Order: sequence, then C-alpha cells, then structure tokens
Amino acid sequence: MNFELNEEQQQIKFSVREFAESEIRPHVMEWDEAQHFPVELRPKLAELGLLGVLFPEQYGGAGMGYVEYATIIEELGRVCGSVGLSVAAHNSLCSNHIYTFGSEDQKQKYLVPLAKGESFGAWGLTESQAGSDSAGTRTSAVRSNGGWNVNGSKNFITNAIVCETLVAVAVTEKEKGNRGISAFIFDKSMEGFRSDKKENKVGMRASETASVVFEDCYVPDENRLGNEGEGFLQAMHVLDGGRISIAALSVGIAQGAYEAAIKYAKGRQQFGKPISEFQAIQFKLADMATQIECARLLTQQAAAMKDAGKPVTQKSAMAKVFASETAVRVSEESVQIHGGYGYTKDYPAEKYWRDSKLCTIGEGTSEIQRMVIAKHLLRA
Ligand SMILES: Cc1cc2nc3c(=O)[nH]c(=O)nc-3n(C[C@H](O)[C@H](O)[C@H](O)COP(=O)(O)OP(=O)(O)OC[C@H]3O[C@@H](n4cnc5c(N)ncnc54)[C@H](O)[C@@H]3O)c2cc1C
Repeated sequence: MNFELNEEQQQIKFSVREFAESEIRPHVMEWDEAQHFPVELRPKLAELGLLGVLFPEQYGGAGMGYVEYATIIEELGRVCGSVGLSVAAHNSLCSNHIYTFGSEDQKQKYLVPLAKGESFGAWGLTESQAGSDSAGTRTSAVRSNGGWNVNGSKNFITNAIVCETLVAVAVTEKEKGNRGISAFIFDKSMEGFRSDKKENKVGMRASETASVVFEDCYVPDENRLGNEGEGFLQAMHVLDGGRISIAALSVGIAQGAYEAAIKYAKGRQQFGKPISEFQAIQFKLADMATQIECARLLTQQAAAMKDAGKPVTQKSAMAKVFASETAVRVSEESVQIHGGYGYTKDYPAEKYWRDSKLCTIGEGTSEIQRMVIAKHLLRA
C-alpha cells in the first residue's frame, strides 16, 4: 500500500499548481464578480493536456489515469473552484461519455477535438422535473428521416454556452422507463439546439451554468451513443467517475481555504499575540487539516480503484459526500478564523465558502450519495 504520489504524479501536481498560481490566481475575483468563464485559458489548458487528461494519445489525450486526474482537479480547485468545475465537466462527463460508449467514428469526430482542446464539452442529464430523479427525463427523441427529432430542455448545464459539443439523454421509448432513455451527441452547429438562460449563482460564478433547449433538433442516428435504451445506465456509469472529480475539487477548495486560514492566523494579532497561538484557533486548524487528509485519501482510493478497473459506485459516492461536506465545513471555519474580514471580499475565505456548497449538490446531492452508499451496504 502506497499513500504517496509517485515522482511523475508529483511533477504533474507541481506543474498544475504553478500554472494555477500564475495564470488563474491573479484573476480569480475579477472573473467571479463578472461571472466570466475564462475562455482565454483554453489554449493553455490544452497545451498542458488538461482538456484530455483521461484519454489515450491516439485520441489526442494526455493518457493519464484517475489518480492524476484527481490530482489535477484538486490543484485547480485549490485556486479556483470554477475553473476546476468546468474542466471536470469537459473531461469526465462529456468527453468520457464519448470515450467510454462512443464508436470509433464518434471518437474520431468528437473526442479527438475535445481532448485536444479544439472544442469544449458539456453534459446534460438534469431537467426542470428531473434532478435527483434523473430517470424522470422528459426531453424526447422521436425517429424521423433516418435520425431523431429532439424536443425538450436541460437545466443547470455546466459549459452550456461555451461548449461546442454536448452529450445529453432523451426518452426514446417512454413505456420502458429508465431503459427507454438513450444518449446522443449534439453540436452547436445543429439547427434547433441552443443554450438559453444563464444562472446567476452564489458560487462557482466563473463556471458557466445555463439551460439548453432542443426545438425540433434533428440528430442523425450516427450520433446516438451505444444502443437505444442504454443512455440512463451509461449516465450512471459516467457519474461514478465524475463524482471522483467533484470529490477532488472539494479537496482542493478545502485545501485553499485551509491555507488561507493558516496564513491569516499567523499574521493577525489580538490580545498582543498572533491568533494562531490561541488553542481555540489551533484546534480548528488541526480539525481542518485532519478532515482534508481523510477526504484526500478517500478520493485517491476511489481514483486508484477506478484506474484498476474495479467497480467504484460506492467508493466514489463515499469520497464525494465526505469531501464535499468537508469542503463546506473547512471553508466555513476559514471564514470564522478570518473574523469580520472573512465576511468581506478582501480575503479569499468567503469565495471558498461560496464555491464549496455546489460540491454537495452537483453530480448528485449528499442525500443521493448516502442513498447510493446505503443501497450497497444493504445489498449484501
Ligand atoms: C452549478 C451547477 C452545475 C451543474 N452542472 C450540471 C451539469 O453539467 N449537467 C447536469 O446534468 N446537471 C448539472 N447540475 C445539476 C445537478 O446535478 C442537480 O442540481 C442535482 O442533481 C440536484 O437536482 P435538483 O437541483 O433538481 O434538486 P432536487 O432533486 O429537486 O432535490 C431537492 C432536495 O431534495 C433532496 N432529495 C431529492 N430526492 C430525494 C430522495 N429520494 N431522498 C432524499 N432526499 C431527496 C435532494 O437531496 C435535495 O436536497 C448542476 C447544478 C449546479 C447547481
């Protein structure tokens, strides 16, 4: 059992940290205030291989595994949750759905440009009436002229406006319930497919979240992913990996919030000494560091199991629920350690706090993760 990253993985961690510190950190608050998704970062992210992390070089990817991927998302989240979230939706949701379930032609046409960063990806499962109950999808796809006529909409889609490629599910055979849902690849050039209302969010403000609308959108049959009726099961499989990335993002946010708290506690003087000398503050820091370490270990365990080809549904749910709730607790304590200054935008603590909350909601709420875990526990 080895709990350390190997030399190559440490090098990856170091380069992403350097990149995040120099290219992202200086702009974080400006992007957050303006709700600006930094498209200008795309070429740099692509150059570092961060837009095709999980895919073999033959598909334009960096050929890394989930341990490296979790390390990368953690480092992005440590500096900016929004960039981490958008990169995660592009890699482990949209691109990975095509990589795992797409035909060779679909991979050549869509995955290669996604992995090279020439196009950007989004993934649509959620609808206004289908959130936690994602099998309640109402978007429909009806056979027409050798393809499919798609009508409906998806809500809360990360990268909906900036994306060129979207993977989304639609009902192809209503009577069959979740076995009557299929997955399709859409591209922005398709008539009848557009992004719509952008959400004005509490946190993760530099990651674009918007709805997408399909109005008599014609999709050729060659854009159907896998067999008819397999879309829901495919989506659940994709989420198993996606949840590892949200766990990693949570670890990064918690780490950033913790580092900000340590720095502040050493510098802030009250009662004639740095507040870091008060045991009440020391115990908070000790709890924060311990919880982050636990969250990182759970996340890396799920990542290593995924790389080993083992089933990870339960482990990725455990990592996600624990890490995301850790991020919320740790970032709230960071605000507390900053006192009144933590409640202002002059210090980074408040942003980590706002960003952290999404992690307990996106890719399945904490309640849904607990349901997944309990289902596995009681199955034996
Ligand atoms: C910033 C952001 C980005 C997102 N990005 C994407 C994306 O890229 N693609 C995508 O498809 N979706 C995305 N989502 C959607 C996200 O996955 C959903 O918001 C989430 O799954 C919850 O669905 P909901 O919001 O409809 O809440 P609901 O399902 O309505 O849940 C409301 C509350 O009820 C609880 N609840 C529901 N069912 C049960 C139950 N059976 N037992 C106990 N409690 C229950 C929930 O846990 C929650 O607390 C994003 C959301 C946000 C906010």
